[in-house]
Amino acid sequence: MKNRKWLIVAGVVVAALVAVMMIPRVQFVMGGAMVNIGYRFQDHLHEYDLEHHEDITPTQVWDEFMKQNEMAASVRDTFPRSTRHPLVALLVCMDARIDTSELTGDTRRNYYIVRTAGSVIGPEEGDMLDLAVTNGVKVVVLTRHSDCAAEKAAKDPAAREKYPALVKSVDEREQRVKEFLARPDIAAKIAAGELLVKELVIDTATEHVRPDTH
Ligand SMILES: [Zn+2]
Repeated sequence: MKNRKWLIVAGVVVAALVAVMMIPRVQFVMGGAMVNIGYRFQDHLHEYDLEHHEDITPTQVWDEFMKQNEMAASVRDTFPRSTRHPLVALLVCMDARIDTSELTGDTRRNYYIVRTAGSVIGPEEGDMLDLAVTNGVKVVVLTRHSDCAAEKAAKDPAAREKYPALVKSVDEREQRVKEFLARPDIAAKIAAGELLVKELVIDTATEHVRPDTH
């Protein structure tokens, strides 16, 4: 009799857990948490890693890259992913410390991601973001981040000489944002309330964001 009571309690607990797991918000958060578990498995590895092998040759790096792709892609063959229609376009620096899936807590490709050194907007990026808006994007997020190598280069005389195109883009960043906002389709959609363009600064260490007040 006592055993039966515990079986019922266990059954109720399992049913409650299953019910909670069916809640979309719970599934979303758990998916993000599992991605983080993946990072936890790999982050501390130094042996199986391209970055920390100072004496590794370019050919070895290439071979390793191809091997890792083959493994990862074979998983995707087995578990095909869903495709989404992005409503958000993000412009983010190419800095490898920033992970856009972690930044958004979302791995479902709900975002168009444009990555450039220093989060600069060149003519091509302006066109790409405009095209993304034409394809249905409702929010464009232009980001910068702390400890940015491109912004540091723009402040260093030797680097300014060595990377003139990059530092010019960093210098002109605010002006180029204004030009993007003034593009006819972009300006019209903003005026009609069909598009938001936001500027954020990413904390590189924590990936928290705050409004970019320049
Ligand atoms: Zn950067």
